[in-house]
Amino acid sequence: MSPKRVLIVNGSYPVAGLDIFKKNNVETEVFPHMDYEQDFMEILKQNLNGYDGLIWNTKHRLTAEILDLAGPQLKAISAMASGIDNFDLDELKKRGIPLGNTPNVLNNAVADIAVGLLISAARKFKEGVSMIERNEWKFGVQWILGQDIAGSTVGIIGLGGIGQAVVRRLKGFDVSRFLYCGRSDKPEAKLLGVERVPLQELLEESDFVVLVCPLTNETRHLINADTLKMMKKNAVLVNIARGEIIDHVALYEALKNEQIFAAGLDVVSPEPIPADHPLLTLPNCYIIPHLGSATIETRNKMAVNAAKNIILAFEGKSMLYPTY
Ligand code: NAP
Repeated sequence: MSPKRVLIVNGSYPVAGLDIFKKNNVETEVFPHMDYEQDFMEILKQNLNGYDGLIWNTKHRLTAEILDLAGPQLKAISAMASGIDNFDLDELKKRGIPLGNTPNVLNNAVADIAVGLLISAARKFKEGVSMIERNEWKFGVQWILGQDIAGSTVGIIGLGGIGQAVVRRLKGFDVSRFLYCGRSDKPEAKLLGVERVPLQELLEESDFVVLVCPLTNETRHLINADTLKMMKKNAVLVNIARGEIIDHVALYEALKNEQIFAAGLDVVSPEPIPADHPLLTLPNCYIIPHLGSATIETRNKMAVNAAKNIILAFEGKSMLYPTY
């Protein structure tokens, strides 16, 4: 029997993942283009056909058109991410093509970034750094004052793998209360001392609001002009989930008018954010370029698990992390 063939659709993929395929006698082809190139999808579409598996390590959407172009022999797909909002899940289910993802191994790295953003935004790193750069370092007990984490209430929107890792980290910061909201009770919440409340109560009571839920029809623009109004004036909003969960026009207004204190964002919409985007002009909006899982170790583990997902599906077994 000829070996199975897998296409890695985005040109950058850790060797650790390729090694797993090699050990399992699976041929791989790494598409020689990067997904930020302008014609990426057009060129990819012309080169997709005939593979048994796809590592879809790109934020571009995987649609019915892509599946048609890939051909009927396609047996398995894996994301190299926890979020799968860029996949047409209904279409995959309809065709019986399993989709895997790579959660868990990224929890610590992404939670680190969430805590980093929370501190940076609360303690006005951006304003301070830009004052140094403009030669405007001043003194005085009222200069660049931020918000304390100790004694605060932290609200987690989505107490999954990453949300729980954020709570575990912040336990060392003497937070007074942890709240969460979501669609179901999490058994881990009791152990972590996190109380489930409705979204409105979380927004009204939290000094820090951390977005860690998936992007779905339900969560798109969950943070909008109305929900921003529910938040405290001293509130710091952190988003490590997906940019589209926040209405950025409403966020800009809320930050500009100091309706909330600050925001720290790892994810924005669109990505990349244009250099002249209004949010970048605000001293109280600290944005980093989707660095959540970007550590060498974490990306290696994600690549390995993506490869394992595909190999298990080829063997007719359940993927390591099946999404449905
Ligand atoms: P996870 O373990 O599946 O946790 C997501 C949690 O969100 C679940 O506990 C889920 O519980 C909850 N949830 C679902 N719908 C919700 C809603 N409407 N309101 C509140 N909570 C809701 O996923 P994860 O690995 O922690 O990742 C979470 C998200 O982070 C991913 O979907 C992805 O978009 C994003 N992410 C970003 C980065 C980055 O680099 N910045 C890296 C990894 C992941 P219930 O269904 O019970 O509510």
